[in-house]
Amino acid sequence: MKGDFLDLKIAELSKLSTDEKREVLSFFHERIVAFNSELNAFLEILPIPDSLSSGSLSGVPYALKDNILARGTRTTCASNILKSYLSPYDATVTARLKNTGAVLLGKTNLDEFAMGSSTEKSAFGPTKNPWDLSRIPGGSSGGSAAAVAAGLVPFALGSDTGGSVRQPAAFCGVVGYKPSYGLVPRYGLVAFASSLDQIGPLTRCVDDAFTVFKTIVGRDINDATTVNGKIDLRAKELPEADLKGLKIAIPSDALDFEGLDERVKSRFLEFIERLAEKGAEVSFVELGILKYVVATYYLIAPGEASSNLSRYDGVRYGERVESENYEEMIKKNRDTGFGDEVKRRILLGTFTLSSAYYDAYYRRALKIRKMISNRINEVLHEHDFILNPTTPTLPGKFGEIGDPLSYYLMDIYTIPANLAGTPAISIPVDPVDGLPVGIQLMGRRYADLELLSTAKQMEKLSGAYNNGLAKIPERWLHV
Ligand code: GLN
Repeated sequence: MKGDFLDLKIAELSKLSTDEKREVLSFFHERIVAFNSELNAFLEILPIPDSLSSGSLSGVPYALKDNILARGTRTTCASNILKSYLSPYDATVTARLKNTGAVLLGKTNLDEFAMGSSTEKSAFGPTKNPWDLSRIPGGSSGGSAAAVAAGLVPFALGSDTGGSVRQPAAFCGVVGYKPSYGLVPRYGLVAFASSLDQIGPLTRCVDDAFTVFKTIVGRDINDATTVNGKIDLRAKELPEADLKGLKIAIPSDALDFEGLDERVKSRFLEFIERLAEKGAEVSFVELGILKYVVATYYLIAPGEASSNLSRYDGVRYGERVESENYEEMIKKNRDTGFGDEVKRRILLGTFTLSSAYYDAYYRRALKIRKMISNRINEVLHEHDFILNPTTPTLPGKFGEIGDPLSYYLMDIYTIPANLAGTPAISIPVDPVDGLPVGIQLMGRRYADLELLSTAKQMEKLSGAYNNGLAKIPERWLHV
């Protein structure tokens, strides 16, 4: 049975006998221990617990991005400032997974405080892309994506503020799903930009994303932005969807974006043809807002981050460097504790929120955010979904991109869903030159079930799967 555990969906793993579940846990644990030195996907590896709890995910191993709390584990956010911070409680998502019997096997690497797109900004070294170790896995949930892509865990959670679940999923050839804002509680997720942050699963198929989503979704009194009753979760399985007659909008401005790699574009266009053959009504629509999304995001997200990160002063949170006086101490704590990208965001955010510039930058960005959401909602009123490549490029080599702006532009296709609060999912399509390519389907806010059902039909047209699960690169198949 052993090797076949990589061929089972989460629902199937949870139905095995207790003895088999023990085997499953040691199988994945062994793989983590064997491969992590090459991938650096995990920052902390946890032991297999002595007893298993019952529940819908009983005995299913998983990993958490290291900005999500799990009592007793470290939560470092891949930052020196939190390198020895112990989680004092469980995040709501962690508690919900625990209640269903899922088994946490480790905490995964990320760009420091989830700020980045490559996992190169981790204070504990970059994670490698399982498809090519000389390339970035994407970010910021790069550790979670690499762990799932190499078959080290059947699923992992990540957080998505501007694309951090979907972009690494695309770069690593797995499924990454960002639910509608407000469906999954953020309590116990270390805040980056609270109006954009959302936790989501990384998995090897849409069915698995749904299985995990069902466990973590729902109102939480500790997160006032969560809602109940928006979607019907009584279904055990995803409702059947039909691609025939579906109205799918393809943003023509996304395809005209000069940073779009030709190879990604041609894979995407090929996939659209397959959709059209299945009867989907595909039309090109000019969104008109794409040129504003990166600028808007990089005003709002750093603004919120500069406020959220003020708590890391070495007094309330964080490592303390002793000093002569209070001011000096705070300065030193923050100077030595934060990496350059985090400092850049704090500076940017403090500047745009300062009274002299608030109207010119932050307030204006809020207005444009509204305009962007309105336009997306308008397109989603006339069409069922919006489809585009998840990222404009293939995963680059380490160190290939030097300047921050080029990195920021990589988020152009994923940011709109965060600004508008809509659900979006990245699924892998046929690879190019052995490298994964992802496409992103975005739907109406709270139409998450329709989104997942449709994405499930789209998976069937993709060459990235084997027996319904995203392929794992050959070199990780055997320990
Ligand atoms: N790459 C984006 C950023 O650096 C998104 C990060 C995220 O979604 N957490 O801010």
